[in-house]
Amino acid sequence: MQNKATNSGNVHTDTFLAQIGNHQNPVTGSINTPIYFSTTYEHPTLGESTGYDYTRTKNPTREVLEQALAELEHGAVGLATSSGMSALQLIFSQFPAGSQIVASRDLYGGSYRYFNELEKLGMYQFTYAATEADFEQLISTETAAVFIETPTNPLMTEVSIERIAAWTKKHHAQLIVDNTFYTPLIQRPLDLGADVVLHSATKYLGGHNDLLAGAVIARSQEVGDKLSYQLNTTGAVLAPFDCWLLIRGLKTLSLRMTRHEANAREVVQFLKESPLVKEVLYPGRGGMLSFKIKDQRLIKDFLRQLKTFTFAESLGGVESLITYPTTQTHADIPEALREAYGLTADLLRISTGIEAGADLVADLKQAFEYIK
Ligand SMILES: *Cc1c(COP(=O)(O)O)cnc(C)c1O
Repeated sequence: MQNKATNSGNVHTDTFLAQIGNHQNPVTGSINTPIYFSTTYEHPTLGESTGYDYTRTKNPTREVLEQALAELEHGAVGLATSSGMSALQLIFSQFPAGSQIVASRDLYGGSYRYFNELEKLGMYQFTYAATEADFEQLISTETAAVFIETPTNPLMTEVSIERIAAWTKKHHAQLIVDNTFYTPLIQRPLDLGADVVLHSATKYLGGHNDLLAGAVIARSQEVGDKLSYQLNTTGAVLAPFDCWLLIRGLKTLSLRMTRHEANAREVVQFLKESPLVKEVLYPGRGGMLSFKIKDQRLIKDFLRQLKTFTFAESLGGVESLITYPTTQTHADIPEALREAYGLTADLLRISTGIEAGADLVADLKQAFEYIK
């Protein structure tokens, strides 16, 4: 399948996104990518193939998605996996036992849990960096890979991908960036020197809280081919229907991100003026923000009183969600450790949806009124 919009290379990202899968089927002219459920493909004759043999190896629907993912992140190879965690696992299948990895201190709780499991098995050794200075100090010739989130989750701290890439390159390590929070519309890590990008496509890329998916994009063909070989070997590929759902989600990514960000700004402005809020953590871009409430004993009533915001894990969908990392997304990080790096029990995280910003502010306002 040739993605014409991909190969033209001269359209804006918004146009590219809207056109994923279009102009590809000369026989039917279908505007939407067909969903190929077929697991196997007929061979014309001995020693020949249509290019498709077996769906774990290659599937026409997944191929359209994977080409789009590569194009979006400016990489050579894109891969669609069954979840963000399987994307992470795929990336970490590259390094030999005993490898040393440097990772961001403040991380998605599930990533931290996985790293701990790898360490317990004696696979890799992890060290964690909270600041750029820590990264500079910890990255050495012994380092196999550096794994970062920027902004971090849930403290929303940014680091310079370019600077970390320079230190990583100097020591011939691989720089991996979890770009779930910003998406390629705000930040393209591969352009800034990273080697591999991953996404929990469950979040912004899918965008509708109805799909579990992951994405891995490699800057070089060489690393991409290795990851692709590994994915075919282990099999955590994204199913055809889910590939189609993700393509459908991607078509509106740009519109959604604009609204997510506008709503985040409105909410941030309101929270900054609220007497019950101690601190607002927002890097100035994107649709994710956290805030610390004056008295953590108010959290239970506050969450119960919210009507438009949903108290739930996850982020990046059209519905606004509020999360309590301490008991939800980050419960697997030991309390003392969490508290030490600033993930305190008074912290709430918000993912602004695409509702009218005024309604989100009104909802927070009435809940604050109720608890004060
Ligand atoms: C959700 C999330 C993941 C894990 O992805 P799943 O799709 O839930 O498996 C990884 N990284 C970040 C930043 C996330 O938010």
